Amino acid sequence: MLHNVSPAGESRLALVRRARRIDRILAETYPDAHCELDFRNPLELLVATILSAQCTDKRVNTVTPTLFAKYRTAEDYASADRAEMEEIIRPTGFFRAKTNSIVGMAQGLCDRYGGEVPGRLKDLVTLPGVGRKTANVVLGNAFGVPGITVDTHFQRLVSRFHWTTETDPVKIEQVVAELIPKRDWTMMSHRLIWHGRRMCHARKPACGVCPLAALCPSYGTGPVNPAEAAKLVRPGPFS
Ligand code: SF4
Repeated sequence: MLHNVSPAGESRLALVRRARRIDRILAETYPDAHCELDFRNPLELLVATILSAQCTDKRVNTVTPTLFAKYRTAEDYASADRAEMEEIIRPTGFFRAKTNSIVGMAQGLCDRYGGEVPGRLKDLVTLPGVGRKTANVVLGNAFGVPGITVDTHFQRLVSRFHWTTETDPVKIEQVVAELIPKRDWTMMSHRLIWHGRRMCHARKPACGVCPLAALCPSYGTGPVNPAEAAKLVRPGPFS
C-alpha cells in the first residue's frame, strides 16, 4: 500500500483532481515542453541520457554531435578506444565512469539484443549504466511508451505539491502513476521538469508569478511579490 499525504483533510479523490488540474495548467503553460537532449534514434538518446547524469542537457548537447558522428552503432561503441571516447565526453564530467557505462551498455546490446536498443523497461534496466530513470526517458521519448522520469526536479515538485512524502524514486513513480493517466506520463514528466527548471527552483521558487499558486500547498516557499518573483523566472532553454 503506497502512502500518500496531502493537504490537511484532502480526500483521495480531491488529490487526484488537484494533481490532474496541476498537469493541465502546466500543459497550458509549457505547450512546447519536450526532452531537451538532442538525438535522432534510441541509441543516441540512450547514450545522451547516460551522459546527462550530474550534467546539464545543454552541455551534453555540445559533445554529442562529435560523439554521434564517430560512433554510429552499438558495435562502434562496444569496440571503442576508451581514451578517445573519454576525451570527447570529458566536458560532461565523470567521463571515465560514463565511458565504462556506455561501452558496457553497448556490449550488452551486442551480446543480448542484436545491437538494437530494446523497447521494454525490464530489458533496458539490465544494461550497465541504465537505471529506471534512463530507461523511462528512452521509452517515453524514443519509443512512445509512456514513462515517468523521476529526476531531482520531479522529486522536489511532487513533494511541494504534496502528491507524496515518498523520497525513493521508484515509490514516487508508483504514486504518480496512480494519480496521472498513463497516456500523459511522458509529457507530464517533461512539464514538471520544465517548471522545476524555469520557475519552481530548489532555492527561491517564483511563487508570486506561478500559475499553480492556487493549487500548490507550498505557495509562499519563495517570494510571493510578483515583481520580485518575476526576476527569478528563467526562460530556458537549458539544462
Ligand atoms: S507556488 Fe511556489 S512552490 Fe508551488 S509550484 Fe509554484 S513556484 Fe513551486
